[in-house]
Amino acid sequence: MQHERSEAAFEAAQTYIAGGVNSPVRAFKSVGGSPVFINEASGARITDIDGNQYIDFVGSWGPMVVGHAHPDVVNMLQSLVGRGTSFGAPTELETDLARRVVEMVPSIDRVRFVNSGTEATMTAIRLARAATGRPKIVKFGGCYHGHSDSLLANAGSGMMTLGIPSSPGVTEGTVADTITIPFNSLPDVKEVFHEVGDQVAAVILEPVAGNMGVIPPAIGFLQGLRDMTRENGSLLIFDEVISGFRLAPGGAQEYYGVTPDLTCLGKVVGGGLPVGAFGGRADLMEQLAPTGPVYQAGTLAGNPLAMGAGIATLEILSQPEAYRKLDSLGEMLERGLRDAASRAGVPVHVNRVGSMMTGFFQTGPVTNFESAAKSDTGRYGAYHRAMLEQGIYLAPSQFEATFVSLAHTEADIAAAGEAAAKALASV
Ligand SMILES: *Cc1c(COP(=O)(O)O)cnc(C)c1O
Repeated sequence: MQHERSEAAFEAAQTYIAGGVNSPVRAFKSVGGSPVFINEASGARITDIDGNQYIDFVGSWGPMVVGHAHPDVVNMLQSLVGRGTSFGAPTELETDLARRVVEMVPSIDRVRFVNSGTEATMTAIRLARAATGRPKIVKFGGCYHGHSDSLLANAGSGMMTLGIPSSPGVTEGTVADTITIPFNSLPDVKEVFHEVGDQVAAVILEPVAGNMGVIPPAIGFLQGLRDMTRENGSLLIFDEVISGFRLAPGGAQEYYGVTPDLTCLGKVVGGGLPVGAFGGRADLMEQLAPTGPVYQAGTLAGNPLAMGAGIATLEILSQPEAYRKLDSLGEMLERGLRDAASRAGVPVHVNRVGSMMTGFFQTGPVTNFESAAKSDTGRYGAYHRAMLEQGIYLAPSQFEATFVSLAHTEADIAAAGEAAAKALASV
């Protein structure tokens, strides 16, 4: 496989773009080699500028759950783009997508659309602090909630692979009200509440962690958080930027049957265009301006193209067998990887929930940041390169999810399993 054009494109990009990329993990730093530059994508296939085609298991890091350039999404965008791309005034498209979100997500009575997951979590935190009159936020090590300052303490993925514990430029004062404890540990939450409970505005988490690799919640963990936050007068915030509309129509909260006070969305809800959203109980959401005093705004928020892509995507996901299909493809991929690993004699511990999964290069179990960090990242890098050369596009980091979409076929999944067997035999 030739990557000459991509290598030249990366050189050129570095002349003008800081680090050559607009989001750090794209640079392939943690797996070695040079990033492939994408020319186009369709369904489960992505093609780089050298003409190499890959089966894509990144899906733009989650949004592309119906596959790339789905005809319904493309048609929707084509029907909208000629009518103007931003008005800074309300459209009915916003209400249409909002109605779908409210109908699908159990915790959401009212929603606000923003432009990214980062904005969604940042604003949900502001709202939680305002609603409770308390300053502190509890988060879990390895959970990533976007790159706003107060949430950049022990965040996962890019931070974890780049080995930055917390970013320079974030002041001690800003994170002083952010308490970080290990994922899946209720005793730690209990201790925090015991010590400073009356100052805790909210507990925020990815109900299924996806940014330190996929880590499901331990049995009883989410319900335990629900009970303890309620008793303590703190809000529970689910960051479902990945899990929303991916695990079930109502996301992880439907999948596990635990309803938070506020929910953050992103990725799938924008159907591949830049969208984030947050929502919750009406009484909380009405504290936002203009009905309440909590400020939030956005020039491009609720952008008509982005709303259209979201509407088309949620429509496709409302087909009866969608989630069963995602889960069965995920299960087949998991089986393929387990088989390949055991045949090659390489320890790979697989965590999967529905269509999101991570194979950790270690014996496991992987239940939190500390155990995830024991993975052999060097070996993952070699595996990543070997898979890429066989036309399988995986996340360029051990600590990310492998995603399947409705566009993947059983033949695609089988091909990935065969490639994994070869790749693992060589690492
Ligand atoms: C991707 C992600 C975010 C940030 O969303 P952006 O759109 O990249 O700002 C927040 N939380 C979680 C769980 C995510 O996976």
